[in-house]
Amino acid sequence: MSKRSDLHYYPDGDILIIVDNTIFRAHKIILKMAAPTLLNHEQQGNEGNELPFINIPDISASVMDIALSIIYPRYFIMPTWENIDSLLSLASNYVINKIYVAGVTFLYHNFKKNPLDAFYLADKYKLSFLFEETSKLVLDHLPKYKEDPTFQKLPLEIQSALIARHMSYVHSLAELSVNHFLSTYHHTCNNPSFHNKQLNQEIESRVLSILDQPSNITPSKVWTIMLSHININVSDGTDCNSYFMSDHLTKKFNIMFGDFKYLEIDKDEENPKYYIYISRNK
Ligand SMILES: [Zn+2]
Repeated sequence: MSKRSDLHYYPDGDILIIVDNTIFRAHKIILKMAAPTLLNHEQQGNEGNELPFINIPDISASVMDIALSIIYPRYFIMPTWENIDSLLSLASNYVINKIYVAGVTFLYHNFKKNPLDAFYLADKYKLSFLFEETSKLVLDHLPKYKEDPTFQKLPLEIQSALIARHMSYVHSLAELSVNHFLSTYHHTCNNPSFHNKQLNQEIESRVLSILDQPSNITPSKVWTIMLSHININVSDGTDCNSYFMSDHLTKKFNIMFGDFKYLEIDKDEENPKYYIYISRNK
């Protein structure tokens, strides 16, 4: 009825792990180091000469194969999108640090390919750092992700938090005006009226290019368009222009749109994109 695992049935193993009708034969010494909590579930064999065993319900034999491959110094197997949820579940139910680290590392290196699934898992397993990182990519395309079945699997309060942050961005977009950025600016250059006219033209063209786009323009695109630095040619006005571009414009933008951050994984890029995001309540 039961079959032996092809990968992890060690003849000198001294404990059996039974998963989904598959028998793994492992070493207590390895489990003691990598997964001590698992040994709390050890049961004695039925007859005197049978090995002790551990029953693990609710996971598949293939996930156990990968879990043991991560623990044992023998094969190298990466988690995949198909098994990452089961692996993290196993790691958190039985406190198996090595599998937990492999799972989180996989998510960190792959979340860009699958932001919504990564966000779902970051929430489920309370991974605060990944939660914030993945929320940036999810919020950048929220109208699309809202239609994905995974979105419905998120807890309601997390769905609401995403929708609320995106709504506030949409409202800010509706308020976008040249005046907001220019009306309170105090020039320090010698020719304020000329400089102001130049800035007005520049900001107006940015605002128009945003309002001209389809309604689903992404937050990161808005940030890039509004906050790109341009050296406007003003005589004796280099400092004034530089201050406006790097300080004043950013400050006014943040007042209107709230905080934006780049992805930590992109921080060494020359021009990282900036995103809206939400954080986990600790
Ligand atoms: Zn000026």
